[in-house]
Amino acid sequence: MIKKKQIKHTTYTFLLILSLLLTSCKSSEDGSSSSSSSSSSGGASCTTATDTICGQQNDLTNIPAAYKTALTKYTTVNSTYLVNVCTQDSNNDGSPNYMVVESSNRPEHKSVYWQATNALHEAFDFATNLYKYATTKTASEYTGTPASAGPNMILEQCITMKMPISPGEASSKSATEFSTMGLSLNGISFFNENAKPPDQITDELFTFDQCSGHPQNEGNYHYHVDPVCLVRDLGGDVVTKSTTVEGTTYSWIEDNGTNGGLLLGFLLDGFPVYGPVGDNHTTDNGSSTPSIDSYNGHTHVTTEFESGIYHYHVKSANIGGTSSTVFWITNEKFYGNPGTIVIR
Ligand SMILES: [Zn+2]
Ligand SMILES: [Zn+2]
Repeated sequence: MIKKKQIKHTTYTFLLILSLLLTSCKSSEDGSSSSSSSSSSGGASCTTATDTICGQQNDLTNIPAAYKTALTKYTTVNSTYLVNVCTQDSNNDGSPNYMVVESSNRPEHKSVYWQATNALHEAFDFATNLYKYATTKTASEYTGTPASAGPNMILEQCITMKMPISPGEASSKSATEFSTMGLSLNGISFFNENAKPPDQITDELFTFDQCSGHPQNEGNYHYHVDPVCLVRDLGGDVVTKSTTVEGTTYSWIEDNGTNGGLLLGFLLDGFPVYGPVGDNHTTDNGSSTPSIDSYNGHTHVTTEFESGIYHYHVKSANIGGTSSTVFWITNEKFYGNPGTIVIR
């Protein structure tokens, strides 16, 4: 069961205009139909919170050996903002039953959604997304104007993700929700690929920043798709693309499709998320891999899990009738039994 605070609707400029015209507001992918456009105060400070599990410290002593290499990465990738790993013995039986990741959900990379006073703020022309996502939705299909996600900016959250200490396939699969369903290695929320009908998340792509993320209206910054800046910062291969239209040059970075072996984070069922599967996804020793299942994953040996593990791959979307190069993180359901997410 997933605990989360009430997630309000992120109002995008073009949707706001539309909703005013129609005097009704569509739902967003973030799960409600409120038309409020004001940012909330965001989450409580995780840096000073006294009710966290890890207590602003890392303790990997009781992390299962198979997971240690992977979970240690959470402790080093985001050197600017708090991300901690520990374990919890919530039933006091003497052995931990949860692997815990706590994060203040603030990216260490640049974003147009950082407040102007933050050194990580960087301007971004949202029109770039017209070209970055051109193959997902053509200009003729997309009727909005690329713009920021309303007045929302990145705000500190205090997120505790508890993953089962020994993840396994669920006998009955449960759905992901329209909120944090996992955390990337830099401590940022993973959201799913869904938009509530009749909205299409392929419209919301156009509010993404230069790192392919955006905040909802409580300041919870999140990735729905392959986080290209994180891929770059983890040493993955990205390519810079640019196009010039009517004298204006638009540039962006893209995953080049060879990062299927790059660990990006975990979902709350305790299974890891790897980069997108390109044309040539093989194991480290070059052997072929099983096909991707309906949960966007499969099982094989990875760099971090030498004995093999089930893992998700951010995938190519096929939404809106186009053959897309955008990479979603998962399908609608978890493969394993999800632990819990608490956002203070
Ligand atoms: Zn979103
Ligand atoms: Zn794989």
